[in-house]
Amino acid sequence: MDYSLLRELPNMNRLLEHPLLLGENRTLVKLAARKLLDELRADILAGKRDTLPSPDRCASLVLEKMKTYRKPSLRGVVNATGIVLHTNLGRAPLGKELYALAEAVYSGYSNLEYDIASGVRGSRYAHIEGLLCSLTGAEAAMVVNNNAGAVFLMLSALAAGKQVAISRGELVEIGGSFRIPDIMAASGALLTEVGTTNRTRLKDYARAVQDGAEVLLKVHTSNYEIVGFTESADVEALSGLAKEQGLPLLYDMGSCFLFDPKLPWLRDCRIARDGILQGADVICFSGDKLFGAAQGGILAGRKELIAAMKSHPLARVLRPDKLTLQALEATLDICRCPEEAMERIPTLRMLAAEEETLRDRASDLVRRLRELQPDWEIRLRKTEDEAGGGSLPNVSLPGYAAAIVPKSRSVDALEEALRLSETCIVSRIHEGELLLSARTLLPGDEERIAAAVAAL
Ligand SMILES: *Cc1c(COP(=O)(O)O)cnc(C)c1O
Repeated sequence: MDYSLLRELPNMNRLLEHPLLLGENRTLVKLAARKLLDELRADILAGKRDTLPSPDRCASLVLEKMKTYRKPSLRGVVNATGIVLHTNLGRAPLGKELYALAEAVYSGYSNLEYDIASGVRGSRYAHIEGLLCSLTGAEAAMVVNNNAGAVFLMLSALAAGKQVAISRGELVEIGGSFRIPDIMAASGALLTEVGTTNRTRLKDYARAVQDGAEVLLKVHTSNYEIVGFTESADVEALSGLAKEQGLPLLYDMGSCFLFDPKLPWLRDCRIARDGILQGADVICFSGDKLFGAAQGGILAGRKELIAAMKSHPLARVLRPDKLTLQALEATLDICRCPEEAMERIPTLRMLAAEEETLRDRASDLVRRLRELQPDWEIRLRKTEDEAGGGSLPNVSLPGYAAAIVPKSRSVDALEEALRLSETCIVSRIHEGELLLSARTLLPGDEERIAAAVAAL
């Protein structure tokens, strides 16, 4: 092995003085230069090199490395999957409008825990509690970091050491690490399973109460549906039992709307207000599922129960930050006027998009891409889009996509190239075609897709 090349490695100080690097940040130049020299050294020792790059080439390699330092890991992507609440892609997009509203809170100080009227310390929940109460009909409300946290706080504060009756059909797992039985165990609540997987009646709960259950828990089975020979006790019936026995009824609604979005394809529409109206003592749901706001776990219900949760030590552990609160407040404010909300909240706008609008958008995209790649097979394709986020299982939304079969490369290679392009474009492959669905495209995404396709 020839190690004499080691002696010819560029001198660090000489490299730093290269004219190409002089105007750059010194600290980053040093980091990148050291990394380059380490890599060259390792290559020589591994016998992978018999020449060294020229000094000019070394300097430009350093510059390339520096670019990767400055490139954020967490960044925007184009969601062309047609899945509106895509868990891997950050669930609900908030839109440019909300982003603009957030600027002052984001870039400077805010009255997060400061009561402007009296000039003394305030509560961070105050910014959203009134809106949440008026939109859900609850007496009191609060927010934690996410809905998993809301369930955990609810059980820890209201059910620790108590038997909690829950249907065997509702012992759900949501996204791997969140399983109702595990969360219950961690909170100190004692799981009392009632009924069977497919059928649970009110009298099953009544028997559990007779046997010592002190809390009733209902969990929405978000990501699956039990069909066929089924029966379950609804919230209204459970609330009757809970009231008769003086026990709290807790209801994890998972994903729900703040008002009826009147979507023609939606058979069973869960609205937060209904949970309260039907008699749940506390409801909880996600901020970034069908509500369409930021990651958060909303808790709403009876005043004394919410107060018990606000003063529980876990509330401090799970408290939301100012940006979450800002996004929730702004979204709730928009929700006061449903017609406006359907236009201004991106999640709702995408869910409600008309078939005709989607066909027009997808057709435009097809036309545009054909101009850029005349040899490719590009056509309009009907799709079955999804709400996603485990929010509406077994509901498919009629949509449209540009379907592509490229020339001189495989569909898989095209998928990869679009994903690795300047703005990462996430698409899906279906029956040998690459699909770019119109439903989940945000303003400007068509231009990003066109730029990526033109660059191929
Ligand atoms: C999604 C979901 C959760 C978890 O909510 P996150 O906001 O993801 O933490 C809990 N319960 C139900 C029923 C859900 O659908």
